[in-house]
Amino acid sequence: VGGRPVRDIRLDFPAFATAGDARPTAYLDSAATAQRPTAVLDAERDFLEHHVAAVHRGASAATGDSTTRFEAARADVARFVGAGEREIVWAQNATDALNMVALGIADASAGIGGADAARFALQPGDEIVLTEAEHHANLLPWQRVAQRTGARIVPVRVDEHGCWSVDDVAAVLTERTRIVAFAEVSNVTGQIAPVAEVAALAHRHGALVVLDACQSVPHRPVDFAGYGVDFAAFSGHKMLGPNGIGVLYGRDELLDSLPPARTGGSTITKVTMEEARFLPAPHRFEAGTQAVSQAVGLGAAVHYLEAIGIDAVAAHEEAFAERVVAGVSAIPGVRVVGPQVGERRGGLVSVAVDGVHAHDVGQFLDEAGLIVRVGHHCAQPLHRALGITATTRASAHVYTTADEADRFVDAMGEVRGFFGLGRKVS
Ligand code: PMP
Repeated sequence: VGGRPVRDIRLDFPAFATAGDARPTAYLDSAATAQRPTAVLDAERDFLEHHVAAVHRGASAATGDSTTRFEAARADVARFVGAGEREIVWAQNATDALNMVALGIADASAGIGGADAARFALQPGDEIVLTEAEHHANLLPWQRVAQRTGARIVPVRVDEHGCWSVDDVAAVLTERTRIVAFAEVSNVTGQIAPVAEVAALAHRHGALVVLDACQSVPHRPVDFAGYGVDFAAFSGHKMLGPNGIGVLYGRDELLDSLPPARTGGSTITKVTMEEARFLPAPHRFEAGTQAVSQAVGLGAAVHYLEAIGIDAVAAHEEAFAERVVAGVSAIPGVRVVGPQVGERRGGLVSVAVDGVHAHDVGQFLDEAGLIVRVGHHCAQPLHRALGITATTRASAHVYTTADEADRFVDAMGEVRGFFGLGRKVS
């Protein structure tokens, strides 16, 4: 990957220090949360050991140093996603970031934020367009907005594989469409959305575009400014970074007028007993003491991914998915969800096994030394649309090997036989 053999890259990760094991456990659940390289752990530890002081508060050299490191991490993240520093707001994770947008819009609809925020206000009957494939993190916050404003959720239906197209979005847009929200890469199907095309289409209808970039930023090159999206969200823990830190991206000209979902210290210019005036973005959204060492760790994760090259990471993971899809598609009674053989997808593959519940598949794989994700992957409407209750997902990151892909395929070849179905493979 990026000129380095995977076995060399694995040495960067303490989690894979299993030199003595003949057959180490295969970690195939990076789409849920990724392993962390030593560089990230060291960056956090170094900050905590030598650089702790209140950020953006006080006038000492020590606070200046901690603030510089905190803001340098923001600049690293901004560069990585094609954004300006002012456009990067720290959040806890993608879920938190999506809630910040949704709650800001709900507040604006209730008159909070005054005339500046009126551009975000929804009226009863306005429409929020979401695909059926969305993660609950990009669905439930919009349900709350709909409940508070009287707006309506309009679904973009998926096909029999769980995929949707620009035409499917175009078909549901109306003059009432105010928001179009979707994931760049689905955490279940692995479909890669045509982000710039959808954004341009939505903007022609005067809608805001919200991108769930949780499964794209950690795995492939993104360019939020180039896409033309209005907001985007992603998590640190899926991109080799720490837990407890995520990012809300907002277009510069929008962020200063979106009401902050949380208010409190560090967000204001002037406070009286009755009211407050807020700082410009990003600080107006960062109420209270922030996850500083985690932000610094995320900056280190960006440096790590940049050193390998995010294009190389994407190519490596797409090769993993291609190998798994090709292998699994040849197994009777095992169905690949999402793009099929020969179609492009991100580095994850979900499958449904005829006659065997995903939880039983998961247990079988666990005994075979494979860590995967089973269940509805926080995407119940998608599974309902596909007529299945649960799937089994294998997902990759920079440290995943071709051998691990093959082990997953081999195990899937045996699972139905193990449960007494189909042709038994001994
Ligand atoms: N969106 C997608 C597409 C995801 O895969 C996930 C994580 N499974 C999330 C949102 C939520 O991320 P987090 O739990 O880190 O907030």
